[in-house]
Amino acid sequence: MNAVLETPTLESPDTGLLLDTSAVKSLFLGHMVQQNLFPYPKIREEERETLEMVLDSFDRFLAERKDSFAKWDDAAAQPEEFLQGLRDMGLFGLIIPEEYEGLGLSNAAYSRVLSQSSRHDSSSSLTIGAHSSIGMKGLLLFGTDEQKAQYLPRLASGEMIAAFCLTEAGAGSDAAALKTRAVRNDDGTWTLNGEKIWVTNGGLADFFTVFARTEGEAGKLSAFIVEKSWPGVAVGPTEHKMGIRASSTTTVSFADVILPAGALLGPEGKGFKVAMEVLNNGRTGLGGGAVGGMKACIELSSQYAKQRKAFGQNLSDFGLIKKKIARMTVDCFAAESVVWMVAHYIDSGHTDYSTEAAISKVFASEAMLRTANEAMQIAAGNGYMKEYPYERIVRDSRILTIFEGTSEILRLFIALSGMKDVGDSLKDMKAGVQGIFNNPIKGFGVLTDYTGRRLTQITSLGRDRIVANVPDSLQDEALVYEKYTLELARLTDVLLRRHGKHIIGKQLSMQRVADVAIDLFVGISVLSRVASMQADGSEKYEFAVTIAKLFTQDAKRRMNQNLRRLLKNEDEGTTSLCDYIVNEEAYPWDII
Ligand SMILES: Cc1cc2nc3c(=O)[nH]c(=O)nc-3n(C[C@H](O)[C@H](O)[C@H](O)COP(=O)(O)OP(=O)(O)OC[C@H]3O[C@@H](n4cnc5c(N)ncnc54)[C@H](O)[C@@H]3O)c2cc1C
Repeated sequence: MNAVLETPTLESPDTGLLLDTSAVKSLFLGHMVQQNLFPYPKIREEERETLEMVLDSFDRFLAERKDSFAKWDDAAAQPEEFLQGLRDMGLFGLIIPEEYEGLGLSNAAYSRVLSQSSRHDSSSSLTIGAHSSIGMKGLLLFGTDEQKAQYLPRLASGEMIAAFCLTEAGAGSDAAALKTRAVRNDDGTWTLNGEKIWVTNGGLADFFTVFARTEGEAGKLSAFIVEKSWPGVAVGPTEHKMGIRASSTTTVSFADVILPAGALLGPEGKGFKVAMEVLNNGRTGLGGGAVGGMKACIELSSQYAKQRKAFGQNLSDFGLIKKKIARMTVDCFAAESVVWMVAHYIDSGHTDYSTEAAISKVFASEAMLRTANEAMQIAAGNGYMKEYPYERIVRDSRILTIFEGTSEILRLFIALSGMKDVGDSLKDMKAGVQGIFNNPIKGFGVLTDYTGRRLTQITSLGRDRIVANVPDSLQDEALVYEKYTLELARLTDVLLRRHGKHIIGKQLSMQRVADVAIDLFVGISVLSRVASMQADGSEKYEFAVTIAKLFTQDAKRRMNQNLRRLLKNEDEGTTSLCDYIVNEEAYPWDII
């Protein structure tokens, strides 16, 4: 037992998931929550038909405009005819419930749609994605019935397009530092002042979810619905960006905008929670998009490698090219596996999936960057030319590790949220030791739980097993994840004992811990998926096993290195070198 599993667990009658138990936080305590990892989820039968219809029509619509994407990228805009087409296909209403005239798709199906569109064009995915994943997600999650009735039908039809306004010039990763302010007036209305930057869909939107500092409770944040038509709202010119250029990005400013009392979204003072919930819930949209981008790269690269000749052979005959295409495929399968695992958690009503969602975002976005780079490398000189799609794919994918949470911030989040429960269990133990004299039974209980866990880690007896869930051919791989789960728990424990609350300043250690958690959760998601493929008698099972083996071998090497370097590393040299360089503000050496 542990701090996570000790809390009452809520089991979903439909999926069997433990809805209040985080699979990843449990790994930090040495536990593999079988129910949340196996079997691999399936797409809901009742929405299969709608999903296939949407995929088919969106796919054809985008394929017909294949030659326009590069032009729109140059022009930094999507034409009205294109946006109208998206509206006509109902694409702004993908996740809006049917009662509000949307298509009511699940998160899993929605991410699958974005995956399909990203095979054609990232900017197209982003226009849809920023509207659904973040622009109006706050309304879906926190809106009152009245607010939903007022806006959702118009958002579903695309009559209103939505955007999410959190970032400011002085508040990016540190979103809570924002300065936009909403002051409540005597009549219950609010006056809003401030400026947001880099708002995706800014130039198209009529509906903004805006975060502002409100008075009371030490100036906490609150969320508001703001319509573009309200006096004082101004949208800046289109930003010219490196990639996703056809997607609209602008500033949005507010000068004495009067908001009706009913514009408050969610509880007053809970704006930060609203923002974080929206971002967590929306992460699989971005992950789905990244998976689609990778599929496009794999298609392009395999075709290119097959037809391009060098030294009298096809590129695909060369070992180094084979390795690239195989790795791109492993990355794509792994990202797909973890993104849909997380989408399933969200769809099942899970209440503690933020760590898993962060992992899916970090892994899928970084896998897309690697894949895009390799696709360009295979196409080499041609890849560098605008005539080919590769350079646009590289430019478009670069944003993925920056917006909706940078990779750095999300890694820190993954490590801290995982370690929190370990810290709590250490605190429990301390309290148990103190309490043993006052309340021996309580104290003893805490100690037995704790020592039981320690014993489990040390002896490896009775450890959580997943081998029974996977096919014979993947037993060794399952053992790898079992072993490293215990190692993660053991070393996190050591780290916390060593640094206590000062762990917060040990970012390089936290990054290693996060990377181990990422490899564990992604790897187990891959095994779970392959196990389900075998159970279903999938024809494509054989190479899925190869993928699981390749991923696990790499993950094992990475985990081993990361865990070893938690205790023995060169962090001091790294940080002091940086301090020196930043102080000099230059590279101070030369060879003359
Ligand atoms: C094209 C585009 C579209 C966007 N769309 C939207 C949108 O629709 N709505 C919206 O609200 N925002 C949007 N953003 C903003 C985006 O979410 C932010 O850019 C992002 O949160 C990072 O903030 P920043 O750029 O200010 O980086 P900073 O916060 O200045 O970070 C700079 C670097 O430092 C790192 N860093 C920061 N803090 C720490 C720390 N504590 N420890 C270690 N490293 C740290 C970061 O990871 C990053 O590498 C968009 C941005 C772009 C470029």
